[in-house]
Amino acid sequence: MRRTHYLLPTLKEVPADADTVSAKLMLRAGLIRKVASGIYEWLPFGLRVLRKVERIVREEMDAAGALEVWLPVVQPKELWEETGRWTYYGKELLRLKDRKDTEFCLAPTAEEVITDLVRREVRSYRELPVMLYQFGTKFRDEIRPRFGVMRAREFYMKDAYSFHADEQDAEKYYKRVYEAYTKIFTRCGLQFRGVEADTGTIGGSFSHEFMVLAETGEELMVSCDCGYAANVERAECRALNPGSPEPPLPPEDVSTPGSWSVEDVAKLLKLSPEKFIKTQFYVADQEPVVALVRGDREINEPKLQRVLGCKVLERANDETYRKVAGCEVGYAGPVGLKERARNPKFRLVADLSVKDIVNGVSGSNRKDYHTVHINVGRDYQPDGFYDIRVIREGDSCPRCGETVRFSRGIEVGHTFKLGLKYSQSMNARYLDEKGERVPFVMGCYGIGVSRVVAAAIEQRHDDNGISWPLALAPFQVIVLPLNVTEPNVMGTAEKIYQELKDKGVDVLLDDRDERAGVKFKDADLTGIPVRVTVGEKKLPAGLVEIKGRDEAKPTDVPVSEAVGDVLRRLK
Ligand SMILES: [Zn+2]
Repeated sequence: MRRTHYLLPTLKEVPADADTVSAKLMLRAGLIRKVASGIYEWLPFGLRVLRKVERIVREEMDAAGALEVWLPVVQPKELWEETGRWTYYGKELLRLKDRKDTEFCLAPTAEEVITDLVRREVRSYRELPVMLYQFGTKFRDEIRPRFGVMRAREFYMKDAYSFHADEQDAEKYYKRVYEAYTKIFTRCGLQFRGVEADTGTIGGSFSHEFMVLAETGEELMVSCDCGYAANVERAECRALNPGSPEPPLPPEDVSTPGSWSVEDVAKLLKLSPEKFIKTQFYVADQEPVVALVRGDREINEPKLQRVLGCKVLERANDETYRKVAGCEVGYAGPVGLKERARNPKFRLVADLSVKDIVNGVSGSNRKDYHTVHINVGRDYQPDGFYDIRVIREGDSCPRCGETVRFSRGIEVGHTFKLGLKYSQSMNARYLDEKGERVPFVMGCYGIGVSRVVAAAIEQRHDDNGISWPLALAPFQVIVLPLNVTEPNVMGTAEKIYQELKDKGVDVLLDDRDERAGVKFKDADLTGIPVRVTVGEKKLPAGLVEIKGRDEAKPTDVPVSEAVGDVLRRLK
């Protein structure tokens, strides 16, 4: 490809509303342009990268036995009502009406449509398992689109769905897809990690996220040398070190006028926040719940929701708080709470971090007083101790007990074992060996193809621009003649360019009549892995310069060996 005939509008200035490295570089290097909030055009240069990701994903999905289909992006309301997600999905689901006032949505995902397809077309256990996948545009009406294409409203995704006769087969397939994903991100040339994750709005029994490691990543994950890795929201916590043993003392109310936060009361009483039992009020499916956690820790609400098994979990308002605690907001504590409560029907759940607190401190359920020397069993008894807190740096690994590491990443893939969630609600069944109609066991597996492009940039860039991994680079090589009006320079550049093209290399010839500085800057910004520079200075000695994008200095190579040198670098 010749640069003079290629639409590659690079920008010197950083666009004002670009909020991440990848968003800035994708705009500056001419990969994308913004059309509206969270909606982008992909220019030829960007689309080349997207297609390379797509090809790798397609090859590995095909190798895993998946069959490609093409599903509609405009989907009827009726199907979404069958699973309850027409309501449950909320405002992220963009709804529209056709000319006959029939309601549709723009697909943010395709479980409903695919389950409908399979319940119509797959009848018998003999046809199972079947895995279908597609590449397509998805739309999620994000409240605050940001991070360029990473949290765009319209994005490009690979979504796959598998249907099985039983759990064992679904699990076998899940592992197969997990391995396919590992191959995909390895082939993309990215550093990544598969971590245990939460199931979110897709639902189902368990799931993994594939994270591209990047310091700028939005997601926090924990990992351990033993192999344990999880999203921070999901990561399991153990009980905490109880500290040095001390004899239990009799409980005592102390005056704490105007102080109610752990921080303030800890300061006032000259006690560590680790001695505090924080008491938080929730409403779970309209029933009040009181949750306890150590003073220096936070409740992990998705975990609490799982423990309670409720559909909706919300923080209680002040009125509910007063009703349950029987006191002013900020002064509640577990001691005597059940006896004091005006509505005694509530659950009292405690985090494991509370279990070993000896002579703890909490609110006394009356204004301006706290109680010290509280001990579990003697002074209060929760309905149960659970893992309901957010993991923190310094915590120990739930598997081996060593200290976990925290790192950042960008989620680019997600696998879910769905079980019967969709097949039951949509009555999607097949005939088993005994002739009974039983629901399919399902799995679903996504890769944010457009997101992979942004994640690759977040992981691989420097002050000068992008540094593509070879497998994703829009062009593998740039041939850069420094003076295009000099026939010998241009002739040599053309020759190298043509030879590389003949060898099947993706090569760009920067044949613009521009200053050397401009061309070098653009070459670095656009991140092409190998640069061949043909200049007036070295050409008389029969030399060109070859430089890898991440190398500090170019190497002089004889013109006759230039193509061979490049090909070796691409291996
Ligand atoms: Zn471990």
